[in-house]
Amino acid sequence: MKNLCKYFEISRKETLKAVDDLTFDIYKGETVSLVGESGCGKSTTGRTMIKLYNPTSGNVYYDGKDIFKYNHAEQKEFCKKVQMIFQNPYSSLNPRMTVKDIVGEGLKQHGMSTKDADAKVEQLLATVGLNKDHMSRFPHEFSGGQRQRIGIARALSVDPEFIICDEPISALDVSIQAQVINMLKELQEERGLTYLFIAHDLSVVKYISDRVVVMYLGTMVETAETDELYAHPMHPYTQALLSAIPEADPNKAKANQRIPIKGEIPSPINPKNCCRFAERCQHATERCFKEMPQMKEIAPGYKVACHLVEDK
Ligand code: SF4
Repeated sequence: MKNLCKYFEISRKETLKAVDDLTFDIYKGETVSLVGESGCGKSTTGRTMIKLYNPTSGNVYYDGKDIFKYNHAEQKEFCKKVQMIFQNPYSSLNPRMTVKDIVGEGLKQHGMSTKDADAKVEQLLATVGLNKDHMSRFPHEFSGGQRQRIGIARALSVDPEFIICDEPISALDVSIQAQVINMLKELQEERGLTYLFIAHDLSVVKYISDRVVVMYLGTMVETAETDELYAHPMHPYTQALLSAIPEADPNKAKANQRIPIKGEIPSPINPKNCCRFAERCQHATERCFKEMPQMKEIAPGYKVACHLVEDK
């Protein structure tokens, strides 16, 4: 993804900058997590990557080719290679379709016969812990966790290489979250899948990701390998986010100091051309309110956008 921007025109004078100048890579077989508060542009990024939105500017390359310049045949192939698991397992399944039709729709679109598609749906349901009897049922007959399994089976149906998981567990009970996360990990190992994992639960992100990209108000503020980022976060926003992770061990919890973030996340409509975090940052200086910090590589694979780090 290179300098990707996705703006929404609200009115002639107002522009919502949902994604503003995002550049990062995802390598084959890894899990990259995109984290940040609600409304920071994570889902818009995922949706632009899978072409549900057209970008305002910038490029997304898949296997070296710009996905927005595909011809018809390339587009069809892309639809097979890249799939998405949606956040809400209630609204992302068509209530009028049976599970067999929901999971089998993509297979038939790509030319598979009904008989073969039904056999594959049965296999896919077994893969995600459901069974043959579920094929003729409708989404309302399932729990949230089961619905998300159907969503995962649908994403897997066309044998993709890359899956965008848009907050796949946030609508589920905690006990079910662990099952779905472990299933995603197992599927990745078995099938060599690559994931973009969009989430705001940082404990889950630590468990599942190889690398993390932190977003704030449409911009990218820090990216690094997961262990590095969790051990030594450099950006004040990342430091505050990580300090808010609940600690299970009471002794460690006492030692942990939570870094407060002042105020609410500002509006992404017509944002000022300065550090987007300046109003809430406890280290902000005059420069932070005047100048946008640029992404700087401070160690191999570790990038951060903050004047404080630049000045060190
Ligand atoms: Fe805080 Fe300034 Fe760094 Fe922004 S650039 S995060 S305001 S220190």
